[in-house]
Amino acid sequence: MTTEFRRLPSVDRLLADGRLKALAQEYPHEVLVELARKRLERERGVVASGKTAASLDKIVEYIQTELSHLGQISLRPVINATGVILHTNLGRAPMSRETIAAMEIAASGYCNLEFDLERGDRGSRDVHLDPILCQLTGAEAGIVVNSNASAMLLALTTLARRKEVIVSRGEAVEIGGSFRIPDVMRQSGAKLIDVGATNCTYITDYEQAITPRTAAMLRVHSSNFQVVGFTHAVTIGEMTALGKRTGLPVIDDQGSGCFLDSTAFGLGAEPMVQQSVAAGVGLVCFSGDKLMGGPQAGIIVGKKELVDRLRKHPLYRASRIDKVRLAGLAATLIHYLKGEATRKIPVWMMISAPLAELEKRAAKWAEALGDLARVVDGESMIGGGSLPGSALPTKLVAIPGKKQGRNTSQALAQRLRADIPPIIGRVSEDALLLDPRSVPPEEDELVIKALLELRGLFELTDSK
Ligand SMILES: *Cc1c(COP(=O)(O)O)cnc(C)c1O
Repeated sequence: MTTEFRRLPSVDRLLADGRLKALAQEYPHEVLVELARKRLERERGVVASGKTAASLDKIVEYIQTELSHLGQISLRPVINATGVILHTNLGRAPMSRETIAAMEIAASGYCNLEFDLERGDRGSRDVHLDPILCQLTGAEAGIVVNSNASAMLLALTTLARRKEVIVSRGEAVEIGGSFRIPDVMRQSGAKLIDVGATNCTYITDYEQAITPRTAAMLRVHSSNFQVVGFTHAVTIGEMTALGKRTGLPVIDDQGSGCFLDSTAFGLGAEPMVQQSVAAGVGLVCFSGDKLMGGPQAGIIVGKKELVDRLRKHPLYRASRIDKVRLAGLAATLIHYLKGEATRKIPVWMMISAPLAELEKRAAKWAEALGDLARVVDGESMIGGGSLPGSALPTKLVAIPGKKQGRNTSQALAQRLRADIPPIIGRVSEDALLLDPRSVPPEEDELVIKALLELRGLFELTDSK
């Protein structure tokens, strides 16, 4: 075994290899030394376990591969052909050109983030979003934090720590991605008082649960499920009326951050931020990157007295956003102010895409595949915890996966994921489905190119 150990090259010997010498042009010496050491350490482990160590050639290859992984941004653009517009795993909302431009400007240099240009001294970062949030929602004040999860944690910690918060039993839910109302409540130090039954809650349930320790009533948007059949939910108006009588604020965890009337697009009625504010809610919390269509953020609007309390809490400082996202949020909000959201914000452009347009695009995609695919009717989903159960009619490219009794849909999907950029489709029972709705039309050419290649591959294997 000792001879086997001795056969391992030294670090110097490894670094003298031509291939690693070439990498030394790009990376500092210490980085290469560190990688060589680590690899040799592992090889010693291999030898110690009685196996043969890798050859010098193989070790150099390992180091090359490792460095190519480390030295590349692993976050890569993908084409979302799943038909889920707000796909959390694929990064939720793509942003408008104006939003991207604003973010680039903010990232490139210095800015008046917390600097009062008139007085020439320290200002507040809140002044950049508060006015436009108030204008759009009718609220008295607004602040922004890292995500809606942090917004909820901040609101509950500030207003209800060591106190009680009343929630309908049907709303003490898990949103996904490890966001659960009971857990957030526990973390905030507030005690969850759940009232009513899973399917039915009445305003009297809230009323009867009020004690001197009650700090707030919370409404949570059922983002990812629907209760159907015999149900009864309390309206936000009933809650705020009770809040007014008892002096308790209502916190509305709205999730999606919808400013437009979703029913105008053939969807179910998604609660709108301005409606909650008009109903007299104390605080409305929502995400920046769901239906609002901007960068990740948690936005809180509502009564000035409550927002001011949140602003003073250390958690606000700990979860604040940076200048880049601040600029992006402002640019996205300006689209709503100008009434151009459906023309500028990709999420709303996708939602409002005419079916005839989608059919034309699907036909072009299918054409690239010849007789391997056909255009079929299907449904696109909004996703991202918005409009549960609501779907939009769409046209899909279906590539049947059944060949000689084998289902090859998964293999097809994998093949398209290996493209550059990867194309992500949806695998149904016996076909791979591609939905043009969640793909910006500018990406059509890339999709068609990939599909032409796929067809070439098919024809190769068929002719064998
Ligand atoms: C999505 C969602 C959250 C979490 O929002 P993030 O911005 O992802 O942190 C919280 N509550 C509801 C109701 C949601 O839909």
